[in-house]
Amino acid sequence: MRETLVVSRIPLDHYAELIGAGEIEELRALAKPLQGRSIEMINSTAVGGGVAEILNRLVPLAEELDLNIKWDVMSGAEDFFDVTKSFHNALHGEPYHASPRDFEIFLAYNEHNRTTLPLDAEIVVIHDPQPAALIDARQPGSNHWVWRCHIDLSHPNRAVWEFLEKFVSRYDGAMFSSPEFSRQLPIPQYLFYPAIDPLSEKNCPLDQEFIEQTLHRYQIDAQRPILTQISRFDRLKDPVGVIRAYRIVKRYFDCQLVLAGGSAADDPEGSIVLKEVRREAGHDPDIKILELPAWAPLEVNALQRASTIVIQKSLREGFGLTVSEALWKKKPVVASAVGGIPTQIIHKHTGLLTHSVEGTAYQMRFLLSHPEIAAKLGEHGHEHVKENFLITQKLKRYLALFLMLTRGQ
Ligand code: UDP
Repeated sequence: MRETLVVSRIPLDHYAELIGAGEIEELRALAKPLQGRSIEMINSTAVGGGVAEILNRLVPLAEELDLNIKWDVMSGAEDFFDVTKSFHNALHGEPYHASPRDFEIFLAYNEHNRTTLPLDAEIVVIHDPQPAALIDARQPGSNHWVWRCHIDLSHPNRAVWEFLEKFVSRYDGAMFSSPEFSRQLPIPQYLFYPAIDPLSEKNCPLDQEFIEQTLHRYQIDAQRPILTQISRFDRLKDPVGVIRAYRIVKRYFDCQLVLAGGSAADDPEGSIVLKEVRREAGHDPDIKILELPAWAPLEVNALQRASTIVIQKSLREGFGLTVSEALWKKKPVVASAVGGIPTQIIHKHTGLLTHSVEGTAYQMRFLLSHPEIAAKLGEHGHEHVKENFLITQKLKRYLALFLMLTRGQ
């Protein structure tokens, strides 16, 4: 059974106020030759995580431009997502010994999905490693296939990458979130920044009253500083490290820590990590561990807006959309200098980059004692996101790629 996808619709013209009517005109002009062309996006989860977040906005906007675009989610059971989660961690450079059985499971689910997913669109965009082997369904010379990789491949586990590379090399192109993530491949590679939608429920302006109600519901005190990390409960997001950094800050400031996370359907580790986080938090009433539903954009928005500081202490990261979400809300962000985070955080200009628990604590203490600098970082961060990481720019980039792929046809 195919999953139902939650997509929210906002007319394209509503973005004119933020980015100017000229940009919208440019999008319409670029889209014109593509009208009616069929495009298929495929990933591995409908909600939870950055990829679903982006597709949820990109697809309806492309539809508004009269592109014949569809988004489908591949299906898989627990054994598949156990394997793909291990592959994900391994590709991010974590130690892992892949067994032949892992590869068999991966291939079997891809084969099954080849029979159920519509793969005959003129352009097929495959997101991330999970569905990468769907390329086997391609008839020679029939349509265009591109692979969009959202993870940091700069130090991948060799066995897993060598396995995946055989599939990736058969695409017409690969898109990466940072130049450092690219690999030596026989196909063209493109830089594609992830992006946030400034008008979605996740990022739109909110009434102060709603923000206060949200704090009240989760018993968070609006009068004391709130340090927040919003992330799936995943070891690579280092929630335990966040608690340790908070404990250091707590010696100097009477602050609270909010660790809020939902789960992604393709992430089987969440409940184990959540237990580790609860154990580390102990009985501290100022640590709020919030298990959010997978789709709770207004709550996430309110928590980000209520935060004094937003943290993203990842050990590895593809891009870290949560960083752009917080910067858009003019929040001072303290985040690890990993993956795509330094693209968003220019140290001491749009936020503060760190490399350790102690460093994270130090920078949070600094911001709590220098609120005027914290406010400046937030202002600059907002401008940086506006210039570089909005969904409309991303749409433009896709249109240019689609035009290039279909030219002369
Ligand atoms: N997110 C959410 N609820 C949660 C945790 C995360 O809506 O409980 C969202 C978050 O706001 C962001 C996305 O999921 O839009 C996570 O993307 P990111 O690139 O930060 O990390 P990923 O989960 O893809 O590794």
